[in-house]
Amino acid sequence: MADYYETLEVQRDATPEEIKKAYRQKALKYHPDKNPGDKEAESRFKEISEAYEVLSDEKKRQIYDRHGKDAVQGGMHGGGAGGFASMDEALRTFMGAFGGQGGDSIFENLFGGGGGGGHSARRQGASKRVNITVSFEEAARGADKELAITNYITCSACRGKGAASPKDIKKCTRCHGQGQVIEQRGFFSMSMACPQCHGEGQVITDPCKSCRGEGVVKEKQHVKIHIPAGVDSGMRLKMGGYGDAGMGGGPAGDLYVFIQVEPHEIFEREGDDILLDLPISFTEAALGCKKEVPSLFNHVCRITIPEGTQNSKIFRVKGEGMPNVHGHGKGDLLVKIFVETPSKLSERQKELLREFSLLESPANLPKRKGFLDKIKGLFA
Ligand SMILES: [Zn+2]
Ligand SMILES: [Zn+2]
Repeated sequence: MADYYETLEVQRDATPEEIKKAYRQKALKYHPDKNPGDKEAESRFKEISEAYEVLSDEKKRQIYDRHGKDAVQGGMHGGGAGGFASMDEALRTFMGAFGGQGGDSIFENLFGGGGGGGHSARRQGASKRVNITVSFEEAARGADKELAITNYITCSACRGKGAASPKDIKKCTRCHGQGQVIEQRGFFSMSMACPQCHGEGQVITDPCKSCRGEGVVKEKQHVKIHIPAGVDSGMRLKMGGYGDAGMGGGPAGDLYVFIQVEPHEIFEREGDDILLDLPISFTEAALGCKKEVPSLFNHVCRITIPEGTQNSKIFRVKGEGMPNVHGHGKGDLLVKIFVETPSKLSERQKELLREFSLLESPANLPKRKGFLDKIKGLFA
């Protein structure tokens, strides 16, 4: 084996920074992840790691400088014939130099990658969307519903591990459990998910029979859901954790329930108020009357329509509207008058109305009087 300084291609008086820089450059070139199955690269990687192990340690470096290789190798773990016997030791040196405390984030540190990296096995389950249609009355009163959804749930046989037994989970040999390997693209080194373990850092030698190694199984679930009073079309409810189960101990996804409220035959919604068209006859409008209108809450509301009520007049019944979905009281029931013009009159009715029309005075028709006053100028 060559001289340590020659191995790293540094001067004998190189500073620790220069030594580290040189090692880094060579380590990235000969790292086993970048040279899978390449024996030549493997032994080069061991050599440079061994050289760095010695030269990066001030004490060992002094001993090496004075007494040569044999003097330092005795003190090295597992140092049989020719320094580093195993790749594990070389990798440990590499991690020690660049891996920081964890070791997981080593490639991110080196290549400036971000994000989760490393142990991508921990994944959040998918979130789901379901649509639900409720009646107008259910929206007003609130309702309890049950939804049938098919979710991935954690496999109970393997507790989500995906292996037939814990013994069947082995550390990935390709990435040494890192989940990431380094790939050279031209001048750039890129860290990417390990193709052997798909970034999980481990491989399953005997997959779980129940889930075929997925860690999750499909199951139809019945989810109880409370529809709060006052919901409106387009609102959505979030059911935290009711989506697919997470993988590798990741959190479950969420369930989003999108609400559609069916239209009602007579009621119409305007915010928290409810609008109701009430047809009355023209004699009722003229003479005044009392009316009963239905409410959404199973009782009747009595309203008094005074004499001379005009078409489109709105009567407000307090607190008979939709409950506010955020709990801020209730809206009102707005009763809008629709005065019906009588049709299919009998001869007798026509006779009475002709007689009535002879008696009509401008005071009976305040709107028309105002209208005529306004247009007078136009014809002058
Ligand atoms: Zn399983
Ligand atoms: Zn791997």
